[in-house]
Amino acid sequence: MTDISKENQTHDLIRIEQVYESPSIYKLYIPLTGNALKNLNCYVLIDDGESLVIDTGFRNGECKAALMGGLAKLGVSPEHTKLFVTHLHSDHCGMAEYFDYPDTTIYMGGPEYEYLLYTLDCIPDSSMHRFSAPQLAGGFPEEFLRPASENNPARIFMSSRAFPVTKVSDGDELRVGSVKLEVVSVPGHTPGQMILYIPEEKILFSADHVLFDITPNITCWSGVRDPLGQYLKSLDKILTYDVKTVFPGHRSLSNKTLEQRVQEIKEHHERRLNEVRAVLREHPGANAYEVASRLTWSLHGATWDTAPKSQLWFAVGETIAHMDYLRERGE
Ligand SMILES: [Zn+2]
Repeated sequence: MTDISKENQTHDLIRIEQVYESPSIYKLYIPLTGNALKNLNCYVLIDDGESLVIDTGFRNGECKAALMGGLAKLGVSPEHTKLFVTHLHSDHCGMAEYFDYPDTTIYMGGPEYEYLLYTLDCIPDSSMHRFSAPQLAGGFPEEFLRPASENNPARIFMSSRAFPVTKVSDGDELRVGSVKLEVVSVPGHTPGQMILYIPEEKILFSADHVLFDITPNITCWSGVRDPLGQYLKSLDKILTYDVKTVFPGHRSLSNKTLEQRVQEIKEHHERRLNEVRAVLREHPGANAYEVASRLTWSLHGATWDTAPKSQLWFAVGETIAHMDYLRERGE
């Protein structure tokens, strides 16, 4: 009895939608339960007996059932496919290790892969590195560190080990059956996010570079001086591509043009920068933690003092990115 209900639950998790006719592109709805992102959109391109999977979801049972169940229904085997990992966040690459087979190629940007190895502790001292510096230097209280990291899904559901990748760079061409895809480097959301473009169909898989229902998180990274500046530059870059259809990494598909959405995201950051400027005028010399506590956030009914510490960690990271942007421009 128990087994049957479990099986039914697993079946309920499989949600497949064909989002493009020719070439055949399917969207797998990967649930991210309890996470504000709600779901990951995993895309599967199938052409001439070949397949490409774009991003995976968290490494947990629910995501695995949705991904593997969906792929099985589409006749795609993780042992014989191509997988493109757009960036190191666990909701995108958490299950990449399940594609580590001799006949499968996992593509990922080179610099992004290096950052992933850091977060996976594959490089000595990186456990320190992960929670080191930028947020702490921004005044994030040390006593909040543990609560901030403990319930952070980015850590809990990340890959359990490193997996081998074929590194890709901006402008590289991938082939899946007869379909040609171009790799586009769009640093900002992470230091080395790469996305895919199909010139023939004017399709852009935008991952977390451009989302439609939510604004991509921009935060600080060790070794990156101006992540927001980088991100805004990558927004301008993507507008130079001729795009008819956008397939984003989360939530619903586009209900407006890429140009409209890019404009809205730019305005969001401009408003945020103005807010930071205003706080700093009133509180000269405030650190990022103090500035962040005075900005407006949607904390789902909580206040700055009652919100989960992991949310404050993200908020402070985002504030640092905005303060870095102002500093880099002499403000
Ligand atoms: Zn992301």
